[in-house]
Amino acid sequence: MKRNIRNTPEPGSHTEPRENPKMFLEAGDTITIGSRKHRIERVSLAKDLGEKFGLVIPDDVPIYWLQRAGERRKGAYVPEQNIVLFFDNTDEETQHHELTHAVEYHQKPTSELLALYERVKAAITEDSFEGFVSFNFMKNIHEFIADGRTKGVFIHALKKEGLHDDFVRETAYLFTDPTKDS
Ligand SMILES: [Zn+2]
Repeated sequence: MKRNIRNTPEPGSHTEPRENPKMFLEAGDTITIGSRKHRIERVSLAKDLGEKFGLVIPDDVPIYWLQRAGERRKGAYVPEQNIVLFFDNTDEETQHHELTHAVEYHQKPTSELLALYERVKAAITEDSFEGFVSFNFMKNIHEFIADGRTKGVFIHALKKEGLHDDFVRETAYLFTDPTKDS
């Protein structure tokens, strides 16, 4: 196997060798989202909050807690940086949703899961929902997975169309604990 040997970074270099833990920003630092700068109020580990939802998240994913958003954004998982952004008023369902992205995002969907996604897109209509309607799952496979695991109204719609059992079966592999053998 080919391997890059970069164990001695040049002095002043900001590229850490991959084996090293990544550097987190700290409380008081600012982070730019879109065109807006946000102050980081506190930093926690996605791993710790993930446990509350039964999610196993690697320990190199930080949550940056930002001041309450004035806009509609409720939280985010940023795959390019592998970070989670929450506001001090982020609700639990959103927390669960974004942390689910931190688990599923870097795993490949199976052909069975992709086929199920096509079936779901064809089957779910406005009539599948009761009350609040959400087509966020249509955006991409990641939103499908996260909403199917966390969004009450969509879970209800999947059940109504007889697709929830299939969803649970086809996504189970994404959420098995990689640290356990069985
Ligand atoms: Zn999402």
